[in-house]
Amino acid sequence: MKNMKELSGAYPEELAAEMAALSEKPFRAGQVFAWLQKGASFDEMTNLSRELREKLKAAYVDQPVQLLEKRVSQIDDTVKVLYSLRDGNCVEGVIMHYHYGYTLCISTQVGCAMGCRFCASTLEGCVRNLTAAEMLGQIHWANALLKEKNERIGHVVLMGSGEPLANMQEVVRFLKLVSHPQGLNIGIRHISLSTCGLVPRIYEFADEHLPVTLSLSLHAPNDRIRRQLMPIAERYSIRETLEACKYYLRQTGRRLIIEYALVDGVNADRSCAEELSALLRGIQCHVNLIPLNQVPERHLFGVQETQVQAFLNVLEENHISATRRREMGDDIQGACGQLRKRHLEGLA
Ligand code: SAH
Repeated sequence: MKNMKELSGAYPEELAAEMAALSEKPFRAGQVFAWLQKGASFDEMTNLSRELREKLKAAYVDQPVQLLEKRVSQIDDTVKVLYSLRDGNCVEGVIMHYHYGYTLCISTQVGCAMGCRFCASTLEGCVRNLTAAEMLGQIHWANALLKEKNERIGHVVLMGSGEPLANMQEVVRFLKLVSHPQGLNIGIRHISLSTCGLVPRIYEFADEHLPVTLSLSLHAPNDRIRRQLMPIAERYSIRETLEACKYYLRQTGRRLIIEYALVDGVNADRSCAEELSALLRGIQCHVNLIPLNQVPERHLFGVQETQVQAFLNVLEENHISATRRREMGDDIQGACGQLRKRHLEGLA
């Protein structure tokens, strides 16, 4: 694989420098930027001369992401996609249809180093960070798939494989490009980023002043339980993690989402709901109860619907805003890392 530059991850001013290096007129940079941000291949850039297109093909990566596989749910409109990258790695994503439009869940790393016990993405560790161009490429493919319905992606969640704050530089570049008025122009307020809670990175990200909705994967009402599920809890306490989140809220004016997967016998009983309510009292947040995608190998099982409801009731009694997250694409390995895992095992 030639080590060529990915032009779609370049800011307009960086593109201008590349065009100058190719002895092209400055206005070409604007044209190329608009095409790249639409996901066009060099051959599709029809308002450029053939000569320039050939120069681009020789020097830069043409579309860094390809579609490997898609699965459409028979239950709902969810589409699970598997993308391949130039180095042979693959990552997955999910297109979800909500009443307000289409949301794409994108991956930020190949694999993940965080080691959460319930998560399939982390089983083989982190292979590498994705580039901003590879994150954008995932949206371009989703838009290509939605084109036949005359629809496009309006919201993005950074909740696929990987820990986005462990790949901060490229994630920030991605956020600035995806919201660029001459690009896909997806509002930053339509984007959510989920983190397991890398405390110093939360502060750094807050200082970028990008009003992204922050989701914290909390999954426990206290450090003892959190340590059973998430190795990151050995490094940072819940108290200091929530402090960092509050700083984020102050800097960005956004609300915090707390992700909480109910695991039978671990974090799902009434006392946990009470403890969680006390912990979150006074914080501008909304709790998303996630049905656990079971991991039988690790003896982690979900709970019955009645238990989810009981947990929700306790939060409501305590005036904590909370909902149960809708299950989507249950029939197509909709959950985190499952499709890639099956692909790697040769089962998909
Ligand atoms: N690394 C980031 C984002 C990726 S995971 C983070 O930790 O937040 C996206 C969400 O899916 C997280 O809330 C994660 O805890 C959750 N998740 C992972 N595996 C899951 C499973 N088996 N069942 C339910 N939720 C899961």
